[in-house]
Amino acid sequence: MNPDYIFPIGQIYRKTQQEEEETSRFSDGKSHWVGNYENFKKNIKAHLRREQCGRCVFCRRIIDESQCPATIEHLLPKAIYPQFETLPENLVLSCFSCNSQKREKIPLIDSMQSVNLENYPQSASDFTIVYPYKDNYEDHIDIEEKTCLAFKKSAKGEKTISLYNLNRERLVSARKSDLEYKKNQKYIRR
Ligand SMILES: [Zn+2]
Repeated sequence: MNPDYIFPIGQIYRKTQQEEEETSRFSDGKSHWVGNYENFKKNIKAHLRREQCGRCVFCRRIIDESQCPATIEHLLPKAIYPQFETLPENLVLSCFSCNSQKREKIPLIDSMQSVNLENYPQSASDFTIVYPYKDNYEDHIDIEEKTCLAFKKSAKGEKTISLYNLNRERLVSARKSDLEYKKNQKYIRR
């Protein structure tokens, strides 16, 4: 197994006292993500970057921030589930491009979809996609070396590939260049 591929995310971020206060300011049942929680956002982002070895949680490529910013993705969309908008278990790091694919789709099994959910789903089987805190990505998705296409190894894999559009053209060609780069590295004397 590639040592970069460590899943699930080992450590759930723990808010500091100051961040608890910062993120519990609003109680109107709306999303306040934009323009708020700056301290918390900065710290959880740094934590996730370490946990995810700098990779996007969905396409698994190293996020090159000089090209494209890393974004905090809400697994349960913040517009629909504002009660979980700063809950660490709901937050993962993704590349901008993956983040913009899913939009407001809800990755939960039917019986969990109530928007009034009080408690965050606890079991990996509550999610229809690979749940990065509890599922091992490689059990569900593989990248075929020849074509560089993602292929499903399970129903969750299939859903993750479709929700995050993991075979989009630009991503597939980026995977091909990664592979070329890796091959070329072999011939470079260190
Ligand atoms: Zn990505």
